[in-house]
Amino acid sequence: MIFPWHKSAYSKLKKMIDQNHLPHALLITGVEKIGKFELTQKLIQTLLCEEQSCGQCEVCLTLKKDNPREVLEHSALIRRSHYPNLIFCRSELNDSGTISKDIRVDQVRAFCESLGKTADALQIGVIFYADQMNANAANSLLKTLEEPRRNTLIILLAHNANSLPATILSRCQSVHINPTYDQESASWLSQNIDKEVRADFDALQLLEGAHGVPFKAIKDLEGDYFFQYQSWQNLLLEIAINPTRVNETELFDGNELQVLSCLQQLLTEGIKLKVLKYDSANLELNKVIEKTSQRYLFKLLDDTSRAIALSKTTVNMKLLLDNVLIVWSHITHLKHYPTITHTQEF
Ligand SMILES: [Zn+2]
Repeated sequence: MIFPWHKSAYSKLKKMIDQNHLPHALLITGVEKIGKFELTQKLIQTLLCEEQSCGQCEVCLTLKKDNPREVLEHSALIRRSHYPNLIFCRSELNDSGTISKDIRVDQVRAFCESLGKTADALQIGVIFYADQMNANAANSLLKTLEEPRRNTLIILLAHNANSLPATILSRCQSVHINPTYDQESASWLSQNIDKEVRADFDALQLLEGAHGVPFKAIKDLEGDYFFQYQSWQNLLLEIAINPTRVNETELFDGNELQVLSCLQQLLTEGIKLKVLKYDSANLELNKVIEKTSQRYLFKLLDDTSRAIALSKTTVNMKLLLDNVLIVWSHITHLKHYPTITHTQEF
């Protein structure tokens, strides 16, 4: 199984393997929760499994047991995989018993030493996250990267390649996992969220709300998010019914993008009701939709979607949301639809 949004990065890796061009050091980058470790696991399976990652054989099943993300109660310089020639390096407990922010030099030394032991089989070492190595640790790794050994593969995972020293970057081949907004990833997402939740959300909109990171969308739905979403939705409807409420939106602070997605969902639902001449179970929504022209619903949906798209740039999210909310607060009694100009577009 390969996640839809990993396909292009994986095919790049697969090409390296097929053409026998796999480097000694690989760098896999992508934002938090995009699935760098999952892609790494897939790559390692492809390399070690005789069937190139069948998922069923002893090697594949052994590799699946690894969970280097788990926080141990004791400090470990490196962690061994269930598979003998694979090791992991990550930040561990400090002397004070808290998780260190850095990967330390003694860890990287142990990592390189362990990889340096000659073996006939391919030796693989994974560091996550390479952007957590302190300067000494990075220097120590650099020495190993400068003198690559036969039959050794070092895989560095990093959220942000720019925070790695140029000397390390220049010795790695990098593969990047992009955020995703396509239908295939949305279908994957909708299959992987709770059935009851699925009925309330549109997968593509969820994906947008999570900046194109499917695992993050799933995480967002856990815990308080669902209830938060309900309270944003209620406040949005109150604003449309009673425009003065637009001045009491502290609830939205810090959640601007999610609130925009919530409004987008409301507008989509409202248009559906209007077109199909249905009544919603949500009485407030009925009240708003009844008094609002279908054309204005479409226009505001456009403007809201545009604001969501702009959120991927460095805009002031609060301003973006305020612009949209002003129109929304008057949506039931608008004479003319105003032009919303998000200043950042100029
Ligand atoms: Zn296999």
